Amino acid sequence: MIKYCLGYAVKGDLVGGAALPLDRFMRYVEKRDDGCWWWTGWTAGTTGVYGYFRPGTKARDPHYVAHRWLYEQLVAQIPDGLELDHLCRNHLCVNPGHLDPVTPLENRRRTRLPVCRSGIHDLTIAANIRWDEKGRRRGCKRCWLDRLNERNRIKREAERGA
Ligand SMILES: [Zn+2]
Ligand SMILES: [Zn+2]
Repeated sequence: MIKYCLGYAVKGDLVGGAALPLDRFMRYVEKRDDGCWWWTGWTAGTTGVYGYFRPGTKARDPHYVAHRWLYEQLVAQIPDGLELDHLCRNHLCVNPGHLDPVTPLENRRRTRLPVCRSGIHDLTIAANIRWDEKGRRRGCKRCWLDRLNERNRIKREAERGA
C-alpha cells in the first residue's frame, strides 16, 4: 500500500520503480495559455463532467476526482464538507491556483455571479480573470486594465500640464 503524505509521496514508498502518481497525473495535463491546466485523462459525470484519476496502478484501486486529488497533493487537505470552486469556471481545469475551497452554499452563490462587480465583463471567460504571480484570483482583468489606463492617462495629462 502506497502511503501519501501532504506535499508529496515518500521516496521509500516507490514500488518496483513505478512512476510516481504525481508524474503519471501530469502526463494527462495540458497547460494552456490562459493558465488553465486542462485534464485530458478519464472524465465522467452526468450533471457536470469532471476528470478522474487513479493514483494506484491496480485495476481495483479507487479513482479520485482529478482536481481535488491534485489540490491535496500540492496545496493542502480539503477540509471536510468543502467543495473546490473553479474560479476559472472550467470544470476540467486541475490548476490548484484556480481552485478555492468553499462551502457548497458559497459555491452555488458564486455560480450565479458570472459577471464582475461592474456587471459588464463575463467572468466565465478565463482571459477576463486577473491572477497574481501565485495564481490567486485578483478580480476582473478588464476592469483592472481600464483603471490602469485611466491612471496613466491622468498622469500623462498632469505631466503635459506641468
Ligand atoms: Zn483554470
Ligand atoms: Zn470588469
